[in-house]
Amino acid sequence: MKIAKYSMGIGDRFAHQGRAQLQAFIKAREAGVEIAPVWNKSFREHAIIQTDHTSVRNEADAAIKALDWQGPYYVDADHIGLKTVDSFIEVSDFFTLDVADYIGQKPMDLELDAFVDRNSKYIGKLEIPGIDEPISVSKNDIETAGTKFLFAVKEAGKIYKHIEENKGKEYFITEVSMDESEDPQTPAELFFILAAIAQEGIPAQTIAPKFTGRFNKGVDYVGDLEQFSREFEQDLAVIRFAISEFGLPETLKLSVHSGSDKFSIYEPIKRAIKKFDAGLHIKTAGTTWLEELIGLALAGGDGLILAKEIYGRALERYDELAKPYAAVIDIDPDELPSTDTVQSWDGNIFAQALRHDQTCELYNPNFRQLLHVGYKVAAEMRERFSNALEKHQNIIAKNVTENIYDRHIKRLFL
Ligand SMILES: [Zn+2]
Repeated sequence: MKIAKYSMGIGDRFAHQGRAQLQAFIKAREAGVEIAPVWNKSFREHAIIQTDHTSVRNEADAAIKALDWQGPYYVDADHIGLKTVDSFIEVSDFFTLDVADYIGQKPMDLELDAFVDRNSKYIGKLEIPGIDEPISVSKNDIETAGTKFLFAVKEAGKIYKHIEENKGKEYFITEVSMDESEDPQTPAELFFILAAIAQEGIPAQTIAPKFTGRFNKGVDYVGDLEQFSREFEQDLAVIRFAISEFGLPETLKLSVHSGSDKFSIYEPIKRAIKKFDAGLHIKTAGTTWLEELIGLALAGGDGLILAKEIYGRALERYDELAKPYAAVIDIDPDELPSTDTVQSWDGNIFAQALRHDQTCELYNPNFRQLLHVGYKVAAEMRERFSNALEKHQNIIAKNVTENIYDRHIKRLFL
């Protein structure tokens, strides 16, 4: 199974917006760019919302059928490991093997020695087409890269083989992800990670490194844009080189786990993939659930009451909700509006405070981040929440489609 050149991972926590999301991809196609939708949901999200792993597959298939989508699409078991993969094997055809927790665990001496030996031909000045300066590589660099990443890649190899045995080689896409780690990986490190991946026999088609900068959930990128652009281009050059050097799949491409809505890096990414004629996988728009809230607020009446109630409860449970996401949110509690303030808002004000439009004066990234991690509150409302989604589906769908098409696809691909 080969992945399409451009693909976009989209989240949909409550599995109601499959069609509205797909509509954005149809608009993209009409505008001349083919992007494969990938519905992803992690084990963590499933656990918090208590959804069945088959629900994402059912949602995707239903949307594809309803809108008669003829292009490729995938269902991603996002951030899985050996312990969590099994219930995804049947329903997923894209697997994000998350081995970030294994980075830095020391491999066996014999394995490390073999890795250093195998790659000793790169000692000296490593010239990678597309990167201006040759990268200088010492034996010590290879050893350091092996010590840092070899154990993790071997873990990815175990997960890959487990899926392959149970699903069959041709029936899925493999991604290796290391994005949820402390430190970003340099282009030189990426080169040796890919060497190890090839040597482990993992036919990775997407690789998700951790990039420089902060990727907080649901809000824009914070970091050095120039450094990001430079490293992103170098990563593309490394991947192109690694495909021919190590015999990795032709379709291998970068996967950007954006944590949603990193609008300020879209322009550099767009420029870079054009320059290298490279593919791209980007996971974004996990904020679809915020568009549901925006739609509910704009609907007014019981929709607005519900949206306000969700915020009020989320505010009360701030510590509990923020905790699992502590590393990827930056909320200033002093900037969170009080429940009373929010009670006084009309639907438009609520929508503008929440919607990710940085040119809007009312936009409040603290309000947005708290609601983004507050989906548990809505999940606990069960039928009350899903009934409201159904009742106000038209206005919600409009916001979901517009968000993905106008704020993401247009900026990245058109
Ligand atoms: Zn990720």
